[in-house]
Amino acid sequence: MQHRLARLRAAMAEQQVTALLVGSAANRRYLSGFNGSYGWLLITPDSALLFTDVRYTIQAARQAPNFTLRQVSNPDRPLPTLLAESAAELGLSAISCEAAHLSLAAYQQLRQGLSEGVELKPSEGLVETLRETKDASEIASLRHAIALTDRALVSVIEQLTPQTTEREVAWMLEVAMRTAGAEAVSFPIIVAAGPNSALPHAQPGDAAIGQGRPIVIDMGARVDGYHGDLTRTILLGEPDARFWEIYHIVLSAQRRAIRGIGPGMPVHAADALARDLITEAGYGAHFGHGLGHGVGLEIHEGPGLRRAAAGSSSTLLRPGMVVSVEPGIYLEGWGGVRIEDLVLITEQGCEVLSQAPKLA
Ligand code: ZN
Ligand code: ZN
Repeated sequence: MQHRLARLRAAMAEQQVTALLVGSAANRRYLSGFNGSYGWLLITPDSALLFTDVRYTIQAARQAPNFTLRQVSNPDRPLPTLLAESAAELGLSAISCEAAHLSLAAYQQLRQGLSEGVELKPSEGLVETLRETKDASEIASLRHAIALTDRALVSVIEQLTPQTTEREVAWMLEVAMRTAGAEAVSFPIIVAAGPNSALPHAQPGDAAIGQGRPIVIDMGARVDGYHGDLTRTILLGEPDARFWEIYHIVLSAQRRAIRGIGPGMPVHAADALARDLITEAGYGAHFGHGLGHGVGLEIHEGPGLRRAAAGSSSTLLRPGMVVSVEPGIYLEGWGGVRIEDLVLITEQGCEVLSQAPKLA
């Protein structure tokens, strides 16, 4: 964890942030190792404090040995009081807050608790930007989560019949992942058959998956807090010409993106590799989401691989980023095809981490 704090302090110095209050659960875990549900970090160039309550004091001491613990207890020692004490002790005249993770109510409480001499300033994405590039232990956890996800899908596909319902498939996948050691599923599993598969984030229902129609399965195992994310489109029985047409366009788009992406490429250019192929095939209007997203302590994190808003600058891919590559085509009334792999950006290009087989 020490190297992460060092990177954060360098980024803080660059942005003239003298003290950062961290409220995001994922950022807190990333910097401190503490994964309880309640806690705040206060980081300055020379100190690292962790505020939590009695439910977590033992756990926090074990998980975050590099942090000085301060115990919040309501109503007598609430967070704003402790923060005001720490600000006085450390001589802080300003504290930057993670604007994306602080409610207006929490902001107002902090403002009331702090003395007039301490300014509360908004800050955006400092820790999230660091988290975009994974270190060795994060990549190891992601590889584990991905391998477990791949194996669970393969083992469940063998057992499916046209009578199995979407919900049953989702449960079989969840059991397979948990039995193999996943601590949780990364997100509610998507199993969508036939016309349901035209909804990119469909919820599994009681309908049988049937045969001769697309079945989109999007799933992931979580290991050490890190999320697997895998989509395969499968089909029981014989695919028709329509299915193969759509499937091969999506697969070609994904292959083109995987061959082309690498360090130094702007994220919108990565998106365009797949999008241009789908557009040229006549289905551009049916690929409504971005090509992919970063994956780590959160299932969706930076960088987003998508079209850039006019005039905005685009993040560049860097070695160590782990992103999904997941083009799709969705046709209302017929169904959809999406194929998703996670890839690690390397010095040369990218390494495909997902190994689950695809239809050929
Ligand atoms: Zn997914
Ligand atoms: Zn995804």
